[in-house]
Amino acid sequence: MLETDFFRRWLTAAAAAVEREAGRLTELDSAIGDADHGSNLQRGFRAVIAVLEKENPAGPGAVLILAGRQLISTVGGASGPLYGTLLRRTGKALGDSPEVTPAQLAEALRTGVAAVAQLGGAKAGDKTMLDSLEPAVEALGASFTAAAEAGEKGALATVPLQARKGRASYLGERSIGHQDPGATSSALLITALADTAEGTA
Ligand code: ADP
Ligand code: MG
Repeated sequence: MLETDFFRRWLTAAAAAVEREAGRLTELDSAIGDADHGSNLQRGFRAVIAVLEKENPAGPGAVLILAGRQLISTVGGASGPLYGTLLRRTGKALGDSPEVTPAQLAEALRTGVAAVAQLGGAKAGDKTMLDSLEPAVEALGASFTAAAEAGEKGALATVPLQARKGRASYLGERSIGHQDPGATSSALLITALADTAEGTA
C-alpha cells in the first residue's frame, strides 16, 4: 500500500531531480523555446517542498492536490498549469483514503494525464510532455520500472518530431532534431516515482 509519506517522498525526489537537471532542461528549452523550463520547474518544486513542510496534508490525494495547486500558482510558463493539472487531477481521482494501491495510483495517473491532454489540446506525437507521460502511464500497469523506462524512451523519441503545440510549434520544421524539454522533465518525474517505489529515493 502507498501511504501519505510515499507521495511526499515522490515529490521530494522529483524536486531533487529538477534541481539536479535544471540546467539541462533550460538548455533544451533554449533550443526550441525560451530557455526557462528548468527555472520554471525549480521555482515550482521549491514552492511544493515549502508548502508540504508548512502544511500537513492528510492522505495521498491531499498531498497531490496541494502540490498541484502550488505549481499552478508559482510557475508562469505553460508547464505550470499542465503539471499542476496532472497532480491535482490525479490527487482528486485518489480521493481521501489514507492509502492507495499501485493499481489505484496507475488509474488515477491515467485520469491526470487525460486532463493534461484536454487542457493543452495536445496528443501523442505533438512533441510535448504527453509523449513521455502517455507511454509511462500505460506501462504503469506492468510496473513502476517499466513506466520509468517507457517515459524515458518517449522523451528520447521526441527528437525527430516536429512540435505542434506550445512555444516550440512556432519554429515549425526547425523544432525537428531537438528533445522536448517538457517530455524530458516528465521522464524525470516518472523516474522519481519508480525510484521512490524501489526505495532508492
Ligand atoms: P513555456 O513554453 O511557457 O516557456 P515551459 O518552458 O516551462 O513553458 O514548458 C515548455 C514545455 O511545456 C514544452 O516542452 C512542452 O513539453 C510543454 N507544453 C507546452 N505546450 C503544451 C501543450 N499544449 N500540451 C502539453 N504540453 C505542452
Ligand atoms: Mg519555456
